[in-house]
Amino acid sequence: MRALQIEREGRTRLVTVAPPEPAAGDVLLHVRTVGFCGSDLNTYRGLNPLVSYPRIPGHELAGTIEHVGAAVPAGRFRPGMQVTVVPYTACGRCTACRRGRANACRDNQTLGVQREGALTEWIAVPWEKVLDAEGLSPRELALVEPLAVGFHAVDRGRVAAGDIVVVIGCGAVGLGAIAGAARRGARVVAVDVAADKLALGRKAGASETVDSRAVGLSDRLRALTNGDGADVVIEAVGLPETFVAAVHEAAFAARVVFIGYAKAPVTFDTSQFVKKELDILGSRNATAADFVAVIEMLRDRAFPVTDAVTRVVGLDDAGAALHDWSRDPSSITRIHVDLP
Ligand SMILES: [Zn+2]
Ligand SMILES: [Zn+2]
Repeated sequence: MRALQIEREGRTRLVTVAPPEPAAGDVLLHVRTVGFCGSDLNTYRGLNPLVSYPRIPGHELAGTIEHVGAAVPAGRFRPGMQVTVVPYTACGRCTACRRGRANACRDNQTLGVQREGALTEWIAVPWEKVLDAEGLSPRELALVEPLAVGFHAVDRGRVAAGDIVVVIGCGAVGLGAIAGAARRGARVVAVDVAADKLALGRKAGASETVDSRAVGLSDRLRALTNGDGADVVIEAVGLPETFVAAVHEAAFAARVVFIGYAKAPVTFDTSQFVKKELDILGSRNATAADFVAVIEMLRDRAFPVTDAVTRVVGLDDAGAALHDWSRDPSSITRIHVDLP
């Protein structure tokens, strides 16, 4: 079967690999659509410390069930069903796993990062990782994972109705955080540096937007919050300056949630942590509950799916699309690769 492989930094190629041999507890999927994640872009750019080369990327996927293994509990799955996949593993033994937070497993292996990914024709997945999402299109299904990562950050930030939530970054994950916070009844302010991404933020549920390139972020946010700052700030960019801004824009006794991975060490005025008594929270991957909540939102048709997918290509053009994204990262929210 065919697959796209990132050979090394800046280089992709189409390869032929052996089809998977599903175990008895596996579900065999015909891959329909795969979304490129920021982590796949970083792999392509040589900036993903977790990856080794060559690597088949892809962990945001839509699939159709082709075959259900003999050891899969009866009645759960049947051939032809549309599904998506929780692309993480959990060791079951580390402290995160023992505390019921397997999404932060010390030994997690994500599809397409620490192990071969989904940008291929067929994939075998343990049945526990397969989520029934009947009624959703491949386009919607391949958006579930990045949106779920945003939903998880909302959960980490304990966002409640009436909170003022600032989300910095309107990529797919940030849009998930915006939509998740808005669904909980929060008033959401979206921050980005591109007008079209802010427009998407509004469609996802933000009631206000701030173009931080055009206006002073701090002044604008103070004006929007009666001078208080935000109850919750969610950082979904991963730049040192956005990490610092998240702490700065948080109100006294607020929560700050970090999703982005900064590529360089970040310098903080830590007196703000103490003085404001901030809850500073990391947010990693997503739980199965986050996935299910996103599937429900998509079933409600409450998210601008079409607008969030900037470009759709076939497998033959997937490498070129990744190259274009690398040259102009801000022009793309999501690239989807549709397989035959
Ligand atoms: Zn992703
Ligand atoms: Zn673990």
